[in-house]
Amino acid sequence: MTTDAASTFALSDVQQEFRRTLRAFCQEKVAPHAAEVDRTATFPWKSFEALKELELPALGLATQYGGAGADMVTQAIAVEEIARVCASTSLTLLISKLGMLPVMNWGSDELKQEYVPRVAAGEIQASYCLSEADAGSDVAAMRARAVRDGDSYVLSGSKYWITNAGVSDVYIVFAKTDPDAGARGVSCFLVEKEWGIRIAKHEDKLGMRGSPTGEVVLDEVRVPATHRIGEEGQGFTVAMHTLDRSRPTIGAQAVGIAQGAIDAAAVYMTQRQAFGGPIADLQGLRFMLADMAMRNEAARALVYRACAMADHDPTGELTQFGAMAKAFASDAAMSITVDAVQLLGGYGYTKDFPVERYLRDAKVTQIYEGTNQVQKVVIARELLRRVES
Ligand SMILES: Cc1cc2nc3c(=O)[nH]c(=O)nc-3n(C[C@H](O)[C@H](O)[C@H](O)COP(=O)(O)OP(=O)(O)OC[C@H]3O[C@@H](n4cnc5c(N)ncnc54)[C@H](O)[C@@H]3O)c2cc1C
Repeated sequence: MTTDAASTFALSDVQQEFRRTLRAFCQEKVAPHAAEVDRTATFPWKSFEALKELELPALGLATQYGGAGADMVTQAIAVEEIARVCASTSLTLLISKLGMLPVMNWGSDELKQEYVPRVAAGEIQASYCLSEADAGSDVAAMRARAVRDGDSYVLSGSKYWITNAGVSDVYIVFAKTDPDAGARGVSCFLVEKEWGIRIAKHEDKLGMRGSPTGEVVLDEVRVPATHRIGEEGQGFTVAMHTLDRSRPTIGAQAVGIAQGAIDAAAVYMTQRQAFGGPIADLQGLRFMLADMAMRNEAARALVYRACAMADHDPTGELTQFGAMAKAFASDAAMSITVDAVQLLGGYGYTKDFPVERYLRDAKVTQIYEGTNQVQKVVIARELLRRVES
């Protein structure tokens, strides 16, 4: 088959300019705070305020609710460029988008109008409460309960590993309305912090330390029935539909972290002297750097492909490609950041350089939004489903 049309498998001029602008902005406004928020494990407020200056919290949200309605590849570029200097700051964008996806795709018009514009303006932030201490990969084993009582539901239970716990103003909570119905017994709710959310503890983590992760406790919290998202019993579908649309951007976060590590290692190689010249002259190290760059470009291509499918998926392949992009990019980021530390030798192992932080931050991209083992379960299931049908 021949075609006269030029290939469009490339970033547009607007997307490339957006990347250039954002790179300079992040270098100036976000990078200076990255080591400090990691060291002190505090929310990156200054960086978040900087993102608001560029109206980035609106980027991935629908235009009719105050969002910018950017396509997913553009959102991936934003996440990459922020993660390239501070992964914790990139998570501030990702998590509120994750929280608003169920509202935008499954919520009533009233809910959309009430919450999405405020998240878009960066006035409020959102969390996504799916996991529990004994229900991570096995989501349907959750024990949180939602009991209907007149015009409201009463929610009780404890959600674990919740990103932005305490910082967020709204919490998207999954709980069982029918505990005997397995995955079909899960429903989804929007709960405001003020209605009785309690943060029982915060985790002391290996990486992503500027992003608070905590236990969200609901002790008979009354939630108006108007704040149920989707139908009763539809919560598991809402959760999976949401993760399909978010996982490609976790892949973008991994690509951004890895790019930060590659760039830092490349600069170091030109400066560090050994055996009478820069270590960049050593072919063994050049090959390492080339391998790192190759792996990250392959990851980036897969991430953009999955992102494009999140916008337009005529063949129904997003579930598979989202899982592939997240798993491949996060595995690549892990190996790239380990190699970056190696390229810096002993200095790479210290906090004088950012590469050890990149390594610690990369690790969680293999774990959250479903571990990479779970992604492979999903990929194989989708492949085999096609063979069998
Ligand atoms: C920093 C951080 C932030 C997080 N943020 C959030 C959040 O905002 N909201 C939220 O809801 N959750 C969040 N999580 C939770 C995260 O999604 C879970 O940790 C993850 O899904 C794994 O669940 P688990 O920890 O219970 O591990 P488990 O499910 O207990 O898994 C243990 C091991 O078993 C493997 N395994 C499990 N099932 C299978 C299988 N079927 N086949 C092969 N291997 C399997 C896993 O891959 C893993 O290696 C966060 C976690 C972290 C660390």
